[in-house]
Amino acid sequence: MAKTMAINAGSSSLKWTLYEMPEEKALATGIVERIGLKDSVFTIEYGNDEKYEDVLDIDDHEVAVELLLKQLIELNVLESYDEIEGVGHRVVAGGEIFSESALIDDEVIEQIDSLIELAPLHNPANLTGIKAFKNVLPDITSVAVFDTSFHQTMPAVNYLYSLPYEYYEDYDARKYGAHGTSHQFVAERAAEMLDKPLEDLKIITAHLGNGASITAVENGESVDTSMGFTPLAGVTMGTRTGDIDASLIPYLMEKLELTDVQDMIDIFNNESGLKGISGISSDMRDLEEAEANGDERAEIALRIFEDRVRNYIGQYIVKMEGVDAIVFTAGIGENAPTTRANIMKNFKFMGIELDEELNDVRGVERVISTEDSAAEVLLIPTDEEIMIARDVEYFKNQQANN
Ligand code: AMP
Repeated sequence: MAKTMAINAGSSSLKWTLYEMPEEKALATGIVERIGLKDSVFTIEYGNDEKYEDVLDIDDHEVAVELLLKQLIELNVLESYDEIEGVGHRVVAGGEIFSESALIDDEVIEQIDSLIELAPLHNPANLTGIKAFKNVLPDITSVAVFDTSFHQTMPAVNYLYSLPYEYYEDYDARKYGAHGTSHQFVAERAAEMLDKPLEDLKIITAHLGNGASITAVENGESVDTSMGFTPLAGVTMGTRTGDIDASLIPYLMEKLELTDVQDMIDIFNNESGLKGISGISSDMRDLEEAEANGDERAEIALRIFEDRVRNYIGQYIVKMEGVDAIVFTAGIGENAPTTRANIMKNFKFMGIELDEELNDVRGVERVISTEDSAAEVLLIPTDEEIMIARDVEYFKNQQANN
């Protein structure tokens, strides 16, 4: 049976899902964490809710891949290495080079390497994952799937910053967006649920997880998205600021006596957002609990999050001159009914309305708006991994036909 791996490699982690293709059946999923550190944690979920966990020292990603494959055979998930015919890797930044997924060869590896400045933390980690699999399974179909590709259809009016134009021409300074695979997945699924061609729809997709972004999808294409040059921009996130005034950078650096601008950016990325405002946690569940216990900073953090998401949805309705469907997805989007309700209450005046009962649900796919709502509001669990596996399948079929 043909199997495909979908991989999301971080600097010290390797997340993976193994599929039987083309059936799209998820056989096992897991993560290797703390790679290169002491006591790496190795988790595999498989079969009927079975779980394998081990703690051992794993020096690098290649060792992680070897151990993973060996363990999958030992657990009888795989019979042999040969069953794996394809691997797809999530790559965060594809710049303007990659408007779609790419079959990985030496040139593609060099191109991903050339884009490291656009994602200094992520692209090197993604490359490590790519090289680890290349070394262990050199002959299988290997595909790079970019977070930014889906947004390459944005028009210049939406991707250019109001900066001297040469900065775009000379330094690639523009909006690239992120979460593209997720936005594309839920937009396609929304069209299926509405039983209408994607090309005829105006859809707003709200990927609200620890990282969060909103996208306007028209005729099946991303026309605008809230993340920017990097995933720091847009709405308030778990630990990220979202949009702020750049003048705060020198001002705060002086107040905080910082000399390295990277330290300031690290604070914007890791100490801000819900975590920074509340002083409690980046996790929505903790904030909901704190708010219920009367914590005012948790309350204001939640209201700010809702406000920023709402602003983008409003913007995009106007930009597209209407909307057919608004989709909520990812950890918060799928699991926080109160947040969804609070975001959507401001759209009632345009006739877009949630059905309280339908909205009172977590993690299932369904329409959550009233029958006569002016636009459908949908809850769609995202699945970035299956999109990666599908792209691998596409290239596998192409290779087979050549
Ligand atoms: P993600 O990055 O997509 O995994 O989403 C993570 C976010 O989803 C965190 O803020 C979690 O608190 C939030 N989340 C997950 N489950 C729930 C839940 N049951 N209720 C509220 N928020 C949740």
